[in-house]
Amino acid sequence: MEPRDVIAVARRILHLANRGPGRLEFLREVSRIFLEFSGCDALDLRIGADDRSGGYRWRASRTGEERFAPLRFPDPRASAPPALAGDAAPPRGDLGSGAPWYEDLMESAATGALGPRGRCITSAGSFWTGDAPVDLALTGPTEPARGGAGGVIVSLAVIPFDIAPNRRGVIALQSGRRHVFTGETIGRHEALAQTLGLAIDDRRAQHALRERVKELSCLYGIARVLEEAEWSIEETLERVVRLLPPAWQFPDIVAARLRVDDHERALGDLGRAAHRHAAAIVIEGVIRGTVEVGYVEERPEFIEGAFLTEEHHLLAAVARETALHVQRCEARAERRQLTTKMRQADRLATLGQLAAGLAHEINEPLGGILGFAQLVRRNPDLPATVTGDIDKIIRSALHARDIVRKLMLFARQSPPVRAAVKLNAIVQESLGLLSHRLRESGIETAIDLDPADPELPADAVQLHQVVVNLCVNAIQAMRGGGRLSIRTRRGSDGVSLVIEDTGTGIPPDVAERLFEPFFTTKPPEEGTGLGLSVVHGIVTLHGGEIGFVTEPGKGTRFEVRLPSVPPERETRSASLS
Ligand code: ADP
Ligand code: MG
Repeated sequence: MEPRDVIAVARRILHLANRGPGRLEFLREVSRIFLEFSGCDALDLRIGADDRSGGYRWRASRTGEERFAPLRFPDPRASAPPALAGDAAPPRGDLGSGAPWYEDLMESAATGALGPRGRCITSAGSFWTGDAPVDLALTGPTEPARGGAGGVIVSLAVIPFDIAPNRRGVIALQSGRRHVFTGETIGRHEALAQTLGLAIDDRRAQHALRERVKELSCLYGIARVLEEAEWSIEETLERVVRLLPPAWQFPDIVAARLRVDDHERALGDLGRAAHRHAAAIVIEGVIRGTVEVGYVEERPEFIEGAFLTEEHHLLAAVARETALHVQRCEARAERRQLTTKMRQADRLATLGQLAAGLAHEINEPLGGILGFAQLVRRNPDLPATVTGDIDKIIRSALHARDIVRKLMLFARQSPPVRAAVKLNAIVQESLGLLSHRLRESGIETAIDLDPADPELPADAVQLHQVVVNLCVNAIQAMRGGGRLSIRTRRGSDGVSLVIEDTGTGIPPDVAERLFEPFFTTKPPEEGTGLGLSVVHGIVTLHGGEIGFVTEPGKGTRFEVRLPSVPPERETRSASLS
């Protein structure tokens, strides 16, 4: 073995560390290099802890034996009794020879306490012998140490090295053969051990850097996904959950799950994961979901805990980002809904004013037309053709008056005549009127009336119109038959009336203009487009609210809510007329 070889081996070790592999992968590889270079059968490594990394033991042999165990190495600055002496057995498994003298030797070497320097202790504080157990017997009890291959250790070198300030390690090279070490080779092993110290620190830094880059890439990716407002929540969760595994130490065995309310996306089978951690998704103090990551297989590295501190932080960050995203989406949806509602209310108010003006203007001349037509009609000397024509005038004028009345209802120009009204009775009467049409159209009805028989202050005739109009629309939406459900309920502050059909549903462009007077999608003989505007006017006049949910192709549900006490400002519109 030439000094040139030492340089080549040192480069290999440093190069390996620079790649930033996981710790076990690094130890495995470095052990192979050491065993090959030294010609030994086994090596035993003890690495001290510092404030950034825990200590550990590692043992590897030519026969493929491998052991790893976490360890608290004694702080070289502390004067406490050696932690590894006597009964302080290795924490897990039988690492090293386990003989007390051997443990003492390892520890003394690590703390630089070996002496006196001379025959088997170098000036750098390494212990070595080329010809044990005779020599070993001189330093401790005559218990033969076991080598890696299960044989007796004949040659042994125990070399301390520095890793970082306050962090030291010691490596023991063991062989079953004589004269493996000489005064010259031990110097080279010392040089390589120092290289190993540098490499251990470098690997940690490189590895930490790599982990950090992975985490930041993950967070960056998630931030970009969450920026996209167009995706559905499901799609967003899907994309986020896919970004998680690469950020964890062992991506190939990661299972992950992301849940927000009823939406959930999973990757792999988290149920099988023995190691998992989770972070709650909290929105305005309410837990709305979780993000979970787990490992579905065991790895030797998990002996120190399956997840890195950074991974806990990352998971929490993902939960936070997701919560913020959901909050933003909800705020946006709410704003959108509010603007549509306001725009609709605005339009209806304008239309109401227009309708009111129109109704007044037409009412007078219409009254004239009707009055004089009726007067003329009374004349007995008129020829039959003329009376026929006058009847047509009267019929048309009556029709026009009906429309004007409806317009006034929409414009809330006719104040309701309030009395205590029983809602169930109104529903039953209206259905009685419609029973023939219902039968004819092949529609079954499901009536669910509140047994408490709620009463409310209302205009019975107007309420009647509400029920009939809503039911007629429902019937017209179920050409091929269906089911009409009606429900009445008394609530805490009023009564509600729900009328639901299994009809065509309402497309969004129609829904937007639903309550406008004269807006209709029906042929003239079926609809005037005044039904819902009248219903809207009546409900508003009673201080109530009307809303609907619809799904095109499935059906529509209208809900009317009316207060059980009359509204305070009920005569505002009446005073206008
Ligand atoms: P009309 O019934 O005279 O057309 P309405 O004001 O009652 O006028 O209704 C306006 C429009 O709303 C209807 O033309 C129809 O397109 C739609 N509509 C109302 N109720 C329903 C319903 N239950 N199912 C489907 N569409 C409906
Ligand atoms: Mg209608």
